[in-house]
Amino acid sequence: MDIRLKNKLIRILDQIPSLKEIMISDDDLEGKRKKIKKILAEKLISTFDDSPKIPSLQWVLTRDTIELFSRIISPRSETISKFSFLKYMNDIIHEGEKNSVTKPSPGFFAELNHLLRGISGDVEVYPKSVPSFSKYSGIKAAKLRSASLSKMAQETKKFMDRYPCGLDDNAKRRRYNNKHRVLRYFKATDFEWTNWRWQLRHTIKDADMLKDLVHLTEEEYNAVKLAQKHSIPFGITPYYLSLLDFLPDKGRDNVIRAQVIPSMHYINTLLEHRAHDESSMDFMLEQDTSPIEGITRRYPHIVIIKPVLTCPQICVYCQRNWEIEDVHSRSAALPKFKLDAALDWIANTPEINEVLITGGDPFLLSNEKIENLLFKLSRIKHIERIRIGSRTLVTLPQRITEALIKDVSHFHIPGKREILIVTHFEHPYEITQQSMDAVQKFKRHGIGVYNQLVYTFYNSRKFEATLLRHKLRLIGVTPYYTFSAKGKEETEDFRVPISRLLQEQKEEARLMPGTVRTDEVVFNVPRLGKNYLRAVQHHDVISILPDGRRVYEFHPWEKKLALADTYVYTDVSIYNYLKKLQAYGENMSDYNSIWYYY
Ligand code: SF4
Repeated sequence: MDIRLKNKLIRILDQIPSLKEIMISDDDLEGKRKKIKKILAEKLISTFDDSPKIPSLQWVLTRDTIELFSRIISPRSETISKFSFLKYMNDIIHEGEKNSVTKPSPGFFAELNHLLRGISGDVEVYPKSVPSFSKYSGIKAAKLRSASLSKMAQETKKFMDRYPCGLDDNAKRRRYNNKHRVLRYFKATDFEWTNWRWQLRHTIKDADMLKDLVHLTEEEYNAVKLAQKHSIPFGITPYYLSLLDFLPDKGRDNVIRAQVIPSMHYINTLLEHRAHDESSMDFMLEQDTSPIEGITRRYPHIVIIKPVLTCPQICVYCQRNWEIEDVHSRSAALPKFKLDAALDWIANTPEINEVLITGGDPFLLSNEKIENLLFKLSRIKHIERIRIGSRTLVTLPQRITEALIKDVSHFHIPGKREILIVTHFEHPYEITQQSMDAVQKFKRHGIGVYNQLVYTFYNSRKFEATLLRHKLRLIGVTPYYTFSAKGKEETEDFRVPISRLLQEQKEEARLMPGTVRTDEVVFNVPRLGKNYLRAVQHHDVISILPDGRRVYEFHPWEKKLALADTYVYTDVSIYNYLKKLQAYGENMSDYNSIWYYY
């Protein structure tokens, strides 16, 4: 290994001379561990002793970093993460010349550097001076405080103004032209455009047709071509296509394109999976939580029923991509006898009082089938709430017809049974007059509409998700969950470090009123279900790998209720994520505090 890497490590250790002394000494590893634990304990005690001298919030940060460092060098963390952070640092210093020592990445150095800065209380998170209003009281303090809050709001607005919303006049104009371009291509009429079956019949699945309708990058074209060749589900409804800008040069529609046009990495990884074992793509281990075909159960009172395993178009990061055969596939409906068996299973499980109908997208079924399913569920006395998960409000709002609303809404009986819709907007640029109308049709019948956001690279810039929540509330949608994109290899391009999710919640979403930031940020633990990320006591960082990725231990939601296994997860590297953001035009210093979210 390059000697400069060893020297770089030692330079970082210089921040805490006592730590450096221990690391370069000839003590054995256990001796070093003991001594480091001792200095960390002393540092922790001294922060308590000296606490009045350290600003409170800085003190919290120092305390947390010391605890984190102690945890990642503990034998327990080493066993669980199958990696010794301490031994690795020792190997770089003492055996760095040997080729057997993995080269530390810039991400590893960045993590170590921020850790030591945190322990030393030398971080670039807070301004050096105390806010001026805290020196005064009464009206003077109130005026100064108000001025500083206005500044914060102006900063927020500056970020939000960078992102387009589909309700902006310019966006409306662009989409009007796009729609007419698509209609001309298909020689169709405005009236046909409003027909959801016409939309489905004209779903674009062919790379050349897509290229005729919208400008594609070479990678986009090749990826769609390859998807087609290997029957990997791909399709875009004409409506959703009209949301893409004809030319992608402004970067406005990146999120819309990334949502539905796969990358080469995605296609190649899927093909590799196929060559081996398809079920390995079942990241959530649904096969282990399905007591009967068509049902998934992860919680005491709620079950998922999947009557149909297809969607009008496939989200590239879909966690069920291993189950979905094709876009709008006619053979994807669960056969009637299996659906009836699943319903019987629910009827015979009185502990269940809430059913989530999902798939795939249940609104791809005919009105008659949807009504029939709701009717059968409504006859089960213990079912008090039925959630319908559908992204058609975003990809095919034409599907939300008055007839469908009528067939669904009469099962919504206040005081007895609640019907609600859970949809999936990913970006304000997906919001349109049509999607708002679809939402409002449900709202007029007292049916609540909620949103599940998957937090991906493409909607993770500063205040981007915050703007989405703000706009969603304006069109009548309540933010419900923000999910960490799953740890599947094919969706690597989409993944965002957990620390960014936490940062977004604490520094961006937090500035919005409580009526807007109603969502819970969650990480879906395979087999077990949602883990609340906001609650720090539900997960711990237990190691940092040579490539800069953090290893987390998630505590299951049953914690303190029942014994269950914890779940170990390797995140994506913060450093690589920030570099990607930088290449996307972001200023990395806007994200400085990300390192201190664990
Ligand atoms: S709408 Fe849901 S089920 Fe359908 S492809 Fe997207 S994430 Fe998957």
